[in-house]
Amino acid sequence: MGPKMLTRFAPSPTGELHLGHAYSAVLAHAAARGAGGRFRIRIDDIDGSRSREEFVAAALADLAWLGLDRDGDPVRQSDRLGDYVAALDDLRARGLVYPCFCTRADIAASLSAPHGPSGATYPGTCRNLSDAERARRMAAEPHCWRLDMTRAAALAGDLKWEEMEQGLRTAAPLAHGDIVLARKDAPASYHLASTLDDAAMGVTHVIRGADLIASTDIHRLLQALLGLPAPVYRHHALVCGPDGKRLAKRDAAASLKGLRDAGIDGRALAADLAADRLPTGYSLQNP
Ligand code: GLU
Repeated sequence: MGPKMLTRFAPSPTGELHLGHAYSAVLAHAAARGAGGRFRIRIDDIDGSRSREEFVAAALADLAWLGLDRDGDPVRQSDRLGDYVAALDDLRARGLVYPCFCTRADIAASLSAPHGPSGATYPGTCRNLSDAERARRMAAEPHCWRLDMTRAAALAGDLKWEEMEQGLRTAAPLAHGDIVLARKDAPASYHLASTLDDAAMGVTHVIRGADLIASTDIHRLLQALLGLPAPVYRHHALVCGPDGKRLAKRDAAASLKGLRDAGIDGRALAADLAADRLPTGYSLQNP
């Protein structure tokens, strides 16, 4: 028997949570509780310029209103920067990452940049700089750290993950190109931080929206490179609004704080969401 199930909900405190977040949190909570497992919260606050404390407090209040009890204190990415730095050091020592000095404008100007599953793929401008040039520019210019995807993917070999109730999926990280693992303004990208955190928290099942399925190609690769266990995944359908489009943080009508302030019963809403019943006008769609 494997370890007891542990799921998580990991909001970014950059805005109010909406019905789509509630659906994700409810599914993760229900899966854990249904299996006698644990449910944890992580605050994805690595983006210091966009994260706000008021949104952390609002997210925790929303989850309490939905009746989603959690195990342990919320984990905060801003408390885990040392782990991210250590993992990057490890990859650097193995020659799997390189510093990149390109600006967004440099990358946009590159005619050859094709599009991959997570946006424009990096044209590789800084991949083959000499050690001397790297050292000189690192002293003087802001830089991010990119994964040398060709080397990394070759080292890791064929990778699969288990998608809940669907079986094995093949990870296809190469198509993403040389992704950023540490940003100019933050010691880790979403990919690196999320992968390390899920492992450190002992997450056995990652339950999140289908909009993040392409990220799993990368997360699975990072797990292999860093010797981390691979959780099971479930990428669920996305909640769409009356206009048929998936909800965004700007959709005030679906904000949980708004529903909470309007006196809606959060526990009843959570029970409905757990049974895929959405409020009138909302629907679930697979992208
Ligand atoms: N913090 C991410 C978001 O709000 C979710 C990360 C994840 O579930 O892996 O989109």
